[in-house]
Amino acid sequence: MQLRRVSILGSTGSIGESALDVVRTSGGMLGIAALSAGSNWRRLAAQAREFRPLLVTVTDDTAARELGRELAGSGIRVAAGGEGLEEAATLAEADIVLSAIVGAAGILPTLAAARSGKTIALANKESLVAAGGLITAAVRDAGGILLPVDSEHNALFQLLAGRDASEVSRLVLTASGGPFFRREGSLEEVTPEDALRHPSWSMGAKVTIDSATLMNKGLEVIEAHWLFGVPLERITVVIHPQSIVHGALEMTDGALLAHLSPPDMRIPIAAALYYPQRFELPWQRLDLATLGSLEFFPPDHARFPALELAYAAFSRGGTAPAVLNAANEVAVQAFLDRRLRFTAITEVVADVLARGTVDSGSPDIDMIMAADVAAREAAAESIRVIQASRRS
Ligand code: NAD
Ligand code: MG
Repeated sequence: MQLRRVSILGSTGSIGESALDVVRTSGGMLGIAALSAGSNWRRLAAQAREFRPLLVTVTDDTAARELGRELAGSGIRVAAGGEGLEEAATLAEADIVLSAIVGAAGILPTLAAARSGKTIALANKESLVAAGGLITAAVRDAGGILLPVDSEHNALFQLLAGRDASEVSRLVLTASGGPFFRREGSLEEVTPEDALRHPSWSMGAKVTIDSATLMNKGLEVIEAHWLFGVPLERITVVIHPQSIVHGALEMTDGALLAHLSPPDMRIPIAAALYYPQRFELPWQRLDLATLGSLEFFPPDHARFPALELAYAAFSRGGTAPAVLNAANEVAVQAFLDRRLRFTAITEVVADVLARGTVDSGSPDIDMIMAADVAAREAAAESIRVIQASRRS
């Protein structure tokens, strides 16, 4: 394999850092073309010194000035804002773009990478939730490749490779169930600290809270639809607290083909970055003989309504999934800031979906971004109403 140069969007995050670990162990097979971060310029500067990219970019202008000072004379170009991000997403020297920004901020750069025909390793599921139709069409039209990094989707992608889709009757996505799966009683008073204590995965704050509400799995069902072209009725979610089985295919003859690996995101990241080859990784292996039991349960929809909200938003179509996603981001942030109870996260999302107008049909990117902005305002209003009613 020739040297493959990667642009990482969101390099200072949990996925970004795991990807850099994969590059570190690649023995020179993988290199870095560009790195991007939100505002953490100190961490980005350290990464740039280690990996010598052509370009680094931050969203924040002040951070860009600091980064420029820090890297002056290094020969590494420093960019900023949406333009910088787009440049990192489309850089000619990059062979593959890892889309690992969190949230809707990943939509435009992922679409830009798709339109420029890049091979995209996709961790940013929110971009497919909000703009899956546009992104998958752009990948097709520009002749790019979309490789899933999300562990469940990467598992399904590996299981589906070379298989005739007509032999597959159902996709199964597993969910850990999050920290509250086995908790008795009401979830009204759980704190951000409780919710951030994920039992099997170490991830960024937003996706960890999404795992606790099960919204993560709702987003992932929509993500799976866009990646694999399978209708939602043929995608099943099952709770599997050990996070060892990541996905399975139910075949038409009743066989179930499953993908197992340790819960370590570096494994699916490496599978995407080396695709279609495999590379020997130095990390933990699964030993079935000492693994103990693997458990599976149906999701509890009454306790975790997020999953059904996601199915409903998807069936409504148009900009509804973008609205679901944006309202969820605002509500999760309010919970992390202690302005909203845990159980109110899904109340806010349901409220915004119920009140908001939703464009139907196949929205263009401007409609999707406008729906995102409007849903954020509606969610902020919904949170104010909930806060007021709790005070009175
Ligand atoms: P994180 O919060 O740890 O990192 C997010 C990265 O995005 C950081 O580099 C941050 O600087 C950057 N960023 C944040 N806001 C930005 C903005 N407005 N503009 C530009 N950059 C911005 O998140 P994470 O856990 O690494 O997750 C990243 C994505 O991968 C999410 O979509 C998540 O759902 C998905 N994912 C994560 C995991 C995991 O194990 N962490 C697993 C599967 C999927
Ligand atoms: Mg996942």
